[in-house]
Amino acid sequence: MADAVKDAVEKAVDGVKNLAVDNENEQPQKPQQAKKEKKKKGQESESGRPLEMNPPPQYIADRNAIFDKVKAEQEAWIAKQPREDISVTLASGDVRAGKSWELTPNQIARDISKSLFERTVIARVDGELWDLDRPLEKSCKLELLDFDHPEGKKVFWHSSAHVLGEACERHYGCSLCIGPPVEDGFYYEMALPDGGAVQASDYKPLEKVAEKAIKDKQPFERLTLTKEQLLEMFAYNKYKQHIIQDKIPDGTSTTVYRCGPLIDLCRGPHVPHTGRIKAFQIMKNSASYFLGDAKNDSLQRIYGVSFPDKKQMDEHKKMLEEAAKRDHRKIGKEQELFFFHEMSPGSCFFLPHGMIIYNALQSFIRNEYWKRGYSEVLSPNMYNSSLWKQSGHWQHYQDDMFTFDVEKEKWALKPMNCPGHCLVFGHRERSYRELPIRMAEFGILHRNEASGALTGLTRVRRFAQDDTHIFCRDDQIESEMAALFDFFQTVYGNFGLTFKMKLSTRPDNHLGDIETWDKAEARLTKALDEFCSTSGGSSWELNPGDGAFYGPKIDITIADALKREFQCATIQLDFQLPQQFNLEYRTENAAEAKAIEPAESKEKAEKGFIASAPPAEADSEAKPKDEASYRRELTPGCARPVMIHRAIYGSFERFIAILTEHFAGKWPFWLSPRQILIVPVMPAVNDYVLELQGLFREKGMHVDIDISGNTMQKKIRTGQLAQYNFIFVVGAQEKESRTVNIRNRDIPETQKMGELVPVTEALEKFVQLKDERRLNSAI
Ligand SMILES: [Zn+2]
Ligand SMILES: [Zn+2]
Repeated sequence: MADAVKDAVEKAVDGVKNLAVDNENEQPQKPQQAKKEKKKKGQESESGRPLEMNPPPQYIADRNAIFDKVKAEQEAWIAKQPREDISVTLASGDVRAGKSWELTPNQIARDISKSLFERTVIARVDGELWDLDRPLEKSCKLELLDFDHPEGKKVFWHSSAHVLGEACERHYGCSLCIGPPVEDGFYYEMALPDGGAVQASDYKPLEKVAEKAIKDKQPFERLTLTKEQLLEMFAYNKYKQHIIQDKIPDGTSTTVYRCGPLIDLCRGPHVPHTGRIKAFQIMKNSASYFLGDAKNDSLQRIYGVSFPDKKQMDEHKKMLEEAAKRDHRKIGKEQELFFFHEMSPGSCFFLPHGMIIYNALQSFIRNEYWKRGYSEVLSPNMYNSSLWKQSGHWQHYQDDMFTFDVEKEKWALKPMNCPGHCLVFGHRERSYRELPIRMAEFGILHRNEASGALTGLTRVRRFAQDDTHIFCRDDQIESEMAALFDFFQTVYGNFGLTFKMKLSTRPDNHLGDIETWDKAEARLTKALDEFCSTSGGSSWELNPGDGAFYGPKIDITIADALKREFQCATIQLDFQLPQQFNLEYRTENAAEAKAIEPAESKEKAEKGFIASAPPAEADSEAKPKDEASYRRELTPGCARPVMIHRAIYGSFERFIAILTEHFAGKWPFWLSPRQILIVPVMPAVNDYVLELQGLFREKGMHVDIDISGNTMQKKIRTGQLAQYNFIFVVGAQEKESRTVNIRNRDIPETQKMGELVPVTEALEKFVQLKDERRLNSAI
């Protein structure tokens, strides 16, 4: 778990490449409302701390002295560089001319137009992010990115983190640690003097100091320093010392950036000056550990968000308000869908109403499985660690698994179904005629998430996926991919969710040879291209280096009603696991090949198709066996299947969270745990109410009745608040004519005066509405 934070440190040093980090190992603190500021126009916060330290911390002057000295040297060096004619090619194809070491991206933007100049956040020079005021060194390709570009947004928020860092130094005299951008803003992590904690009442003073920095339009100045100079500059700060020692190889240099009194270790780049930030706000704070490790110092994190336009801040706040109203944890409680208990953190208790949703989701997918030629299996939950060693999980994933001892051997709860499915495939001979095998399972999975990272249904320890492994022949990959894309469209379309696809390629810690990876990546690229060319303007993106360790993957991101994006589905192409488990199938030419195969490999083939895992290591600390030692040559006449891992919902738990917020608790009829409420006008028709309940229940609908002593108006109001899709109000007339008076939640005109429909007709229409899983509830 600590990896994510270590990663963040690495990336904070490395610049802003892909800096969204999860807040793992954070200790969430109760949200605190910043109290109203004191009326008097004071320069003090409620903590009694002055707005700014006076005198300022000594390290500010010390850092500046080193910076100014080296800066003068570097400027002299730049002045001596030869000025040569260079040409800069813009994304539009236009070419601009200038002198090397003089021409800056900002000058080019200003030459093109004032609005482009003002809008541009960062430049990209030959693919590398580049400060707008940094002179170009040679002829190059230049892109100008604005806030709407994901990289531009990261740079903007990363730059804003410096402003927050500056405010914190000026206000607290603290030791800063790291300040990366995150998904919806940025944070700065720091140690306050004497281990103090951030108070909500500090927000306003910090924002005030930040506003001063913004008003000053402090330029971000870049400077390269050697490791020795860095250690000297940050001698006062043990966290920066650690990062410099750990991340910067001896004999090398990296950059620092200065804005106002702050000088920070950072690869950059940044916006040209702090004045680009037009709206800045602190959102929350929490406690964390240095490097995410509970053995290290406890630190304070302050989160903020910023925009280049005040209007965007207002929109952002409105969106947060709307999101809070829809929070699945809140709706889950109100609608009695699920709860969590401290006796098993991260493992959900689904209540009867939540189970109705869960089961409806499951039967929808099962129904599609039936149509699409899938077959379901059920495999064990716990396995001997030998299995995980063979699959590679022990080496790459052990920290995320729950492990334990059984009869002196190491075991683990499964975090995924894949290795078990390999055992299913390999438990007998397979023929090419059987392929593709689409092996589905709704098995329970466990992953060892840190307790501090658990949040509602979105971050859990126990969950189930709509998991499938497709074992197919090489030549079936394209058609299986096409079928999967169609499956996605059907499923997401059914919920009114749109989706985008991203291909993630080979990561650094990959398993297997590069050639196999290239082959897999090429297959996926082809399938994506084909789908996108036929599916009416869909497109896909490349996400280099973010694949799983065993194969490239396609991540599918869905967007909900608030246009928030979530990654649910993945497709992973895997040439590795079938090798690790020696999976094979008889090819069409197998009989022929068998006749000529040498005696030795025939004997091997007769032993069975899957080599059993080696016995567990007696010493669990012993190094796992070399992955290659599990592998066996293919039996003559046989070929390896390709394994495609895929899930569409992802986990049921997280998908239910997403749907709860997407629908804001107003479930479509087919998913709804409260489909119909029947309210009698007077007790005399209670028998008719009971009869109706029976009729609709018989058709599999969730029907409640309210024959309590409350007034009719109150019953209807309660039913509306509970989000019943339909409320039937029945009196003598309805009983007499065997009709129901229907109020439809989604059609406001029916709220005051319902629609009179014969019972038989209503039954028919409701069955249709349910079976067709329609979103539009008009009947
Ligand atoms: Zn920076
Ligand atoms: Zn899998």
